Amino acid sequence: MTQNPRPLPNPKALRHNWSKDEAQAIFALPFNDLIYQAQKYHRHWFPANAIQKCTLLSIKTGGCPEDCAYCAQSAKYQTGVKASKLMNPKIVAQDAKAAKAAGATRYCMGAAWRDVKDRDMDDLCEMIQAVKKLGMESCMTLGMLTRSQAARLSEAGLDYYNHNIDTSPDFYDKIITTRKFEDRLETLEYVREARINVCCGGIVGLGESEEDRAEMLRVLANLPSHPQSVPINMLIAIKGTPLGENVAPDAFDFVRVIAAARIMMPASVVRIAAGREHMSDAYQALCFLAGANSIFIGDRLLTARNPEVSKDRALIERLGLGELEAHHCPSEIRNR
Ligand code: SAM
Ligand code: SF4
Repeated sequence: MTQNPRPLPNPKALRHNWSKDEAQAIFALPFNDLIYQAQKYHRHWFPANAIQKCTLLSIKTGGCPEDCAYCAQSAKYQTGVKASKLMNPKIVAQDAKAAKAAGATRYCMGAAWRDVKDRDMDDLCEMIQAVKKLGMESCMTLGMLTRSQAARLSEAGLDYYNHNIDTSPDFYDKIITTRKFEDRLETLEYVREARINVCCGGIVGLGESEEDRAEMLRVLANLPSHPQSVPINMLIAIKGTPLGENVAPDAFDFVRVIAAARIMMPASVVRIAAGREHMSDAYQALCFLAGANSIFIGDRLLTARNPEVSKDRALIERLGLGELEAHHCPSEIRNR
């Protein structure tokens, strides 16, 4: 028999002072208790049976100078991904329209850049405005930003900026050497200052320990405000990268990360991002039970494969899941 878990904090409270021990204690809960706690937080802040559907387009693919050990788009590794230039905003606008027609309420645009060049800002702003016109949530992930670039993206109407910390501060330099963990935090600060919502999460399956997973979530939860959006990726092991032969962690370990994210950042949308293609329907249902309330739909996720839209539709229907509409995240910054 296991003991009753220590009582968790009031589900209404958003905390920014998580200790290392507290974060690890969540991971150590018996699985059923963990899911039960996560459900309590989830149901307090969100409709219990609603998920948001997002689409992610690669607006600039491959040839990235960074050495992220998981990434198909790093120029340092032979992965077979062809580099291309920044897409024309008109084509991006057409793709966003098609994503909306397919049921997405959030449109994310990703570029394989280390940082943003000012010469591309006009095109990026045009893309944001086109997505906004469709009434969708707009999100971009472009690498590091300067303070003034963040301000310009905000003025153009960008709702969210994605910039993942990927793993714990201690494990970071085993995965990326071309930038520091602190560089990531600096861009996140500029994004917050510009009153753009933060989308920030990480990856499970890099070879990190459970302690690293707890520490990653602790860094996120202890930021001045919780990222309004927390994407949790399962590593897609890409041939040619240093992590190309990594074996996928146990499904329950991934679900634990989702549940811990839900408990520590209860008013944030928790997204299952990369890696759903290899998850069974039952695995994904457990993720929803643990508090995930967003998925990416569409056959491609940047350069990787994603489940077919028809398969996702069938799963959503079988689970009786409704739509979490755009701008229904309770912690989203409004009236920008
Ligand atoms: N260059 C920008 C950056 O790094 O912020 C944006 C694009 S990058 C592809 C966005 C995120 O996708 C990464 O931070 C990482 O968390 C995730 N990602 C990339 N490749 C992945 C893979 N093979 N498996 C799982 N997640 C991955
Ligand atoms: Fe470049 Fe982003 Fe890939 Fe890292 S994750 S190599 S920064 S595209």
